[in-house]
Amino acid sequence: MSEIVLKGVPAAPGIAYGPSFILDKGEFIVPKRAIAHSEINSEIARFEEAVNNARHEIQALKTKITKDMGVAHAKIFDAHLLVLQDATLIDEVTAGIKKNKLAAEYIFVKIIKKFVEAFTKLPDEYLRERAADVSDISRRVLKYLMDESKLHDLDSLQDDLIVVAHELSPSDAVSMYNKKIKGFLTDIGGRTSHTAIIAKSLGVPAVVGLKDATLKINNQDTVIVDGQKGLVIIDPSVETRDQYIKEQHKITANLEKLDDLKNLPAQTLDGKSVCIVANLELAAEVPVVRKYGAEGVGLYRTEFLYMNRLDLPSEEEQYKAYSEVARAMAPFPVTIRTLDLGGDKFISSVQIPHDMTPFLGCRAIRFCLERPDIFKTQLRAILRASVHGRIQMMYPMICGLGELRQANGILNEVKTALRDEKVPFDKQMKVGIMIEVPSAVMTAEALARESDFFSIGTNDLIQYTLAVDRVNEKTAHLYEPTHPAVLKMIQKTIDAGHNEGIHVALCGEMASDPLLAFLLVGMGIDELSMSAASILGVKRMIRSVKLQDAQRTAYEAMQLFTGQEVEEYIDVQLRKFLPV
Ligand code: PEP
Ligand code: MG
Repeated sequence: MSEIVLKGVPAAPGIAYGPSFILDKGEFIVPKRAIAHSEINSEIARFEEAVNNARHEIQALKTKITKDMGVAHAKIFDAHLLVLQDATLIDEVTAGIKKNKLAAEYIFVKIIKKFVEAFTKLPDEYLRERAADVSDISRRVLKYLMDESKLHDLDSLQDDLIVVAHELSPSDAVSMYNKKIKGFLTDIGGRTSHTAIIAKSLGVPAVVGLKDATLKINNQDTVIVDGQKGLVIIDPSVETRDQYIKEQHKITANLEKLDDLKNLPAQTLDGKSVCIVANLELAAEVPVVRKYGAEGVGLYRTEFLYMNRLDLPSEEEQYKAYSEVARAMAPFPVTIRTLDLGGDKFISSVQIPHDMTPFLGCRAIRFCLERPDIFKTQLRAILRASVHGRIQMMYPMICGLGELRQANGILNEVKTALRDEKVPFDKQMKVGIMIEVPSAVMTAEALARESDFFSIGTNDLIQYTLAVDRVNEKTAHLYEPTHPAVLKMIQKTIDAGHNEGIHVALCGEMASDPLLAFLLVGMGIDELSMSAASILGVKRMIRSVKLQDAQRTAYEAMQLFTGQEVEEYIDVQLRKFLPV
């Protein structure tokens, strides 16, 4: 069998090689089960019986719907019946069982995927939507071929697999924290979707936005994930496999070399220090953050504490989690971001309306201002934990001064209550804001006067500046961190913060790319916060360049007109300084 190469959006670096696992919640796990030559006829009979049963089931449904709702509504079942009577489908499965000596369900799924794929490519929208009907039919047939207990369940996920899913929510991804997943592949998603971010923090390679990987890949196919280039190779040839194994060894050797940098300062050759800190999703990641020598946590995404559960975390539980991180990171600072729900992050315990455009809807600070009960519980927990280390706090998605004052108003109420209760907290705790919306950039001077620090959230700032959905694979190519408009937004924020004498950090994914970090250092950023595994690569860059070279490069880059021009220019410049 010749190898197939799929191209998607690179989301987390590294290379993985292993068997695939198609994760489709509510779907059957269909193993690649071999059968003996003597079983071929019984396997075909089993398949024919399953198809017959499914047909009878649909026929019965059709009769019921016709009676209850009329002939028009029952018409859809005619299409389902037609598929099940399709001689090509039946013949192909029968031939497949004979030829490959594999179980009926495996061959059936493989062939049905080809049907679904053919439907999804049809120019007629109505016919394209029939792909969902074909999937529905396949579930009905599988029900008769398989044991219902083989239905997917995230908890039963085995180790050492490459997980392939149409869509993986951030909460699904984070629930894999303790499993030894080798890599992630998804049909949808962009480079900075939260699922991609979690893959990075799990330290596994990921490619997202593959469009139809779940159709092209079958369970237990051997696949290579190239997280750097955003490639997936199905059934790789021996040569390709060997080439990737070599590449993997090279990556490991390079990482080992970087290990020496762990305890060295992130300082340019001419003495400019840049604060290098880590992004954190779960308290359990602290040992990894320390291992890579982070000088603190620049972004603690607290919403993950609220996921994969039916209730809200209590004040006590949050207090414990925040204190644990603060203590483990002391004497370094920990920047706790208040709850950022909505967008692509949802929880079971609170119904957040699924807005038409969730990233523009009731998200982040907007949600907290609407639900002061939930917000106050978190603020109390953060303030109480602030005595256990160097905690600072920031609000996500502030759009203007009014919103900041409203949030601070609630914070002051909480502080007053704690004072009245004689509960200790750090009275000097710094309160900053994330700058991730153009309106915040445009009013940055005023915001800086009432904030202790800024942290630029470029993942969102890019999507809101360029009007490019960060989770949509169809527009992923338009998501350009080097777009001149984005660079101007960043520069304006840094200047506004510095004019008011406050610290300006950046905690979007941009910070973790040495090329872009070079530009940011030249633009005057004070702090870069990133996934722990990216720290040493960025530190290596900082220790190899002079501030004045970075400044000159940034100045020249800002005179260019397209994102591509900027990227090419900084690449050429950085190559002059970085050791090979
Ligand atoms: C950002 O938007 O850049 C950011 C760091 O926050 P998040 O990715 O959690 O939205
Ligand atoms: Mg954000």
